[in-house]
Amino acid sequence: MTPKSDLDYENRGDKCRAYYRPVLYAHSADRQEVLLYQPGCGQWECLFCAARLRAYWVKRIAAGYDQYSGCGMQFDTLTLTMHEKLYNAWGTLRALPGCWSKLSTRARRAGLLRYVAIPEPHPSSGRVHLHLLINRMWTREAWVKNARSSGWGYQVKLRGVYDHRGAISYAAKHLGKCLSSGDWPKGFRRVRTSQHWPECPDDFEKDTSLGEWVWLCSYPVDGLEFLAQGLAEKWRIKVSVLR
Ligand SMILES: [Zn+2]
Repeated sequence: MTPKSDLDYENRGDKCRAYYRPVLYAHSADRQEVLLYQPGCGQWECLFCAARLRAYWVKRIAAGYDQYSGCGMQFDTLTLTMHEKLYNAWGTLRALPGCWSKLSTRARRAGLLRYVAIPEPHPSSGRVHLHLLINRMWTREAWVKNARSSGWGYQVKLRGVYDHRGAISYAAKHLGKCLSSGDWPKGFRRVRTSQHWPECPDDFEKDTSLGEWVWLCSYPVDGLEFLAQGLAEKWRIKVSVLR
């Protein structure tokens, strides 16, 4: 997904190009200034926001892995393929949620279930398969058996994850592929997790000197600096734009 020309705004990755996103402001007591922030559109279809989402998820997956493995939980990577009767992208995509719901229900009956799942289309056929970072529960044979009776294909890959780095590189690799495969339906969730997978607090949330973020206005993509200047004159306080 490289920009075709300078006019191809939507694919330019230097900033989010979605129009009229809200502008928020917060007062920083420590810095004696007001901060302006315009959140991205948060869509995987947007090159800039996709890169941010990817970084967010790598961080969050790693945080969850660290927390769970710190309590003694072990993890595997698992690849599940769809039933061979589903021969195209659409068929596999439609069957995926139902098949995963059946299989995860079985797994939950066997014990605690913690996972991150990243669907991925095959580069040529477009058939979807599922990559998971999942707590260790079954042998490969048991996964094959349970997957098959939940409607999946026979091809199952299972590998142990032994450290933080293994978990991170797995997440980064498959989220990277997520970025480069742009044929998902709009709004498709590219990462799914088990309930209560640990959140990773973003940097703003950690900043306790900040007051609450308040909605200011909707504003076009460019010109946030002008807005900051105008506000600084009006409010008589330094106003900075957060990137
Ligand atoms: Zn965006």
